[in-house]
Amino acid sequence: MSKHTKYGVHRVIEPKGILPQAAYQLDATPSIYPDELLIDVDVLNIDSASFHQIKEACAHDVEKMKEMILSIVSVQGKMQNPVTKSGGMLIGEILEVGSEFHNQNLQKGMKVATLVSLSLTPLKIEEIISINLSNEQVKIKGKAILFDSGIYSVIPNDLDEKLVLAALDVCGAPAQVKKLAKPGDTVFIIGAAGKSGMLCSYQAKKEVGPTGKVIGLVNEENQIEQLKNLELCDEFILESALHSMDVYEKVYELTQGKLADLTINVVNVQNTEMTSILATKDDGIVYFFSMATSFTKAALGAEGIGKDVTMMIGNGYTKGHALVTLDILRENRKLHDYFMKRYASEEN
Ligand code: NAP
Repeated sequence: MSKHTKYGVHRVIEPKGILPQAAYQLDATPSIYPDELLIDVDVLNIDSASFHQIKEACAHDVEKMKEMILSIVSVQGKMQNPVTKSGGMLIGEILEVGSEFHNQNLQKGMKVATLVSLSLTPLKIEEIISINLSNEQVKIKGKAILFDSGIYSVIPNDLDEKLVLAALDVCGAPAQVKKLAKPGDTVFIIGAAGKSGMLCSYQAKKEVGPTGKVIGLVNEENQIEQLKNLELCDEFILESALHSMDVYEKVYELTQGKLADLTINVVNVQNTEMTSILATKDDGIVYFFSMATSFTKAALGAEGIGKDVTMMIGNGYTKGHALVTLDILRENRKLHDYFMKRYASEEN
C-alpha cells in the first residue's frame, strides 16, 4: 500500500491531507484496507485527563457520560476529547488481518491492546455497555481500525487483560524514567499516587539506587500510607501541585537546596508547569507526561524565572515501553495486587 495508508491519512475526512491525530473527523467504516487491522473492541481505557473532563462536564452522571462519549465518537469517528484533545487506548479481539498488514503472524481471535492513542484510531461504537468511574474503563461493543504504522501489544497469558490495559495506557512514563533516571539522582514525582505515578516511582527507585532518592508529591494524606505500604518513594510531600511556592520550599528543604535532578509530572490537572520547573535544578530535566500540560505556560514560565531546565514532552512511546511496564507488574507483587484491585476488579 502507499505511504499514506500506512499512517492513516486515507481515513481522514476533515481537514483533508493531514494526519489522523490532528484531524477533526475520521472515516471509521469497519471494512479494512489491505494494510489495516480490524479489531472487535471490548474495552476503552479513556485517558485520565479526558475522563476527568467528561466526568466533571456530566456531573458524574454515567448516562450523560455515555451520551457524551457516543456523540464524540459518532461525530469524529474517534474518541478524541474535544477539550483535552487526548484519547486513551483499547483492548479487543482481532477480527481481520489485512493481507498487507506488516505482521502476518497475527491471527483472528488474538487479544490485543493498541498502543497508539484513541485520538487517532478510527472507532465505531454500537453500544456502551458500562462505564467504570473508578478505573476509567468503558466497556463497549464496537469496531476499531489499526493502521500499518500503529503499535500494539498482544495480551500476554500471565497477566489479567484489564490490568494490562490499565498499565499499558501509561507505559511511556515508566519507560522514560528508566532512560532518564541515573544512579544517585533525586527524582521528584508529581502525582505519585496515580497510576503512572506508582509505576514511575517503582522504576525511579530501581534506577537511582541506594545513593539516590525518590520524592513523591501527593494531595491526600492516606496516599502516603498507601505508597509506603507498596514500598514506593523514599520521601513524601503532602501538598497540592497547584501550590508552586509551597511545593518548591518543601523540595528545597528535602534536598538541602539542591532540588531535583529529574521531575516527572504525572498529574491530571492544569497549572502545574511552574511547580515542576521550580522544583528542578538548573540543567535538570522535567518530563511532562501530563496531558494537561501547556507548552506556553511551561516555555514562558521557565524563561520568566530564568531556569535552564530541559523540558520534555511526554511522548507516549519509547522503544520497549510495553515490556518495561509489564515487567514492573511481574517484578513487584504488591503493586500487581494493588493494580488488580484498583483497575481490574469488576466491583470498583
Ligand atoms: P491518575 O491515575 O488519575 O493520576 C493522577 C494523579 O494526580 C492522582 O493521584 C491525583 O490525585 C493527582 N492529582 C490531581 N490533582 C492534583 C493536585 N492538585 N495536586 C497533587 N496531585 C494531584 O492518572 P494517570 O492515568 O496516571 O495519568 C496521568 C497523566 O498522564 C494524565 O494527565 C494523563 O492524561 C496523562 N497521560 C499521558 C500520556 C502520554 O502519552 N503523554 C498517556 C497516558 C496518560 P487524586 O486521585 O487524589 O486526585
